Amino acid sequence: MMLGLGAGVVLVGGAAHGAFHRNSPIFGRPITRLRSPGRVVALTFDDGPNPDATPLILDALAARGVKATFFILGRHAEAWPDLVKRVADEGHAVGNHGFFHRKLHFKSPAYVRRDLELGTRAIEAAAHVRPTVFRAPHGFRSPWVTRIARSLGQRTVGWSLGVWDSDRPGVDVIADRTVNGARAGSILLLHDGDGYDPRGDRVQTARAVPLIVDRLLEQGYRFERVDAA
Ligand SMILES: [Zn+2]
Repeated sequence: MMLGLGAGVVLVGGAAHGAFHRNSPIFGRPITRLRSPGRVVALTFDDGPNPDATPLILDALAARGVKATFFILGRHAEAWPDLVKRVADEGHAVGNHGFFHRKLHFKSPAYVRRDLELGTRAIEAAAHVRPTVFRAPHGFRSPWVTRIARSLGQRTVGWSLGVWDSDRPGVDVIADRTVNGARAGSILLLHDGDGYDPRGDRVQTARAVPLIVDRLLEQGYRFERVDAA
């Protein structure tokens, strides 16, 4: 079939938009907010587990009876399977974040499928649970990323608010940005791990979690896992 020049331009523009805007609907609409009514938010943590930050976060959540979602990186799950099991055992949602943490928007379907399958397998091996949600590294997707995730039984999840906690701006800054930016239905993005350094420092984020949870609870928010959306 022949495509006119105009159609080609639209196609290229659309592809760029879908790849570079994490919540773009072009490549399959990701979940970017919760559907539950009222003051409900979801805490989500990417790139873990991490031997320092993840246990601190789990302790803070357990002390407050709050459930969250952890988008686990497969190669970190292989390094610290006990932490993945602890995440699942304590009632949090375990999501797939792939295995290698490469940006997926220019990768072939075969590469994407392998990355997502390896991530899924690492989680299953560690925690004996099968993830039902997936978040792409950096949110970068391509026409087939969402479809491949769906074929593995995983819905693709974006986020409503990121606060650049990975830049380590300080515990209070992370807490302030998160609390001030939270709205009813927000999916909040934080990082308990470093996608490029298995022992990267995410302790600032971990120390911000009790502040965030306490302040949002005071404001009347409830916390929900994203797989409840
Ligand atoms: Zn990531």
